[in-house]
Amino acid sequence: MGQDTIYLEVRNVVTKEDALTENEFHLGTCSSITGPRGGVTIRRYVARRNGKTKTWKRQPEKFQVPYRYGLYEHGYITSWSDAHCEKDCPLNREEESHD
Ligand SMILES: [Zn+2]
Repeated sequence: MGQDTIYLEVRNVVTKEDALTENEFHLGTCSSITGPRGGVTIRRYVARRNGKTKTWKRQPEKFQVPYRYGLYEHGYITSWSDAHCEKDCPLNREEESHD
């Protein structure tokens, strides 16, 4: 009630190049919620690289980035994951646009 929720979404933006070089990824959709008093709550699920990116010689498009999320969760980011790199986060663009 009285809250303004902005959902910003980007999909399939983890490219193979990113997968080999980036260390921080956001899972799913990042959102910015502006409260009734103007306070902004940023919600994002930050996953950090947890090892070397796996690639396949015979399938050059394919990659798998092992990640750690929080203390106990682990997973893999692939080209079809609903995730994006920290540098590509739409919330970063939001922040820049206020300058
Ligand atoms: Zn993000």
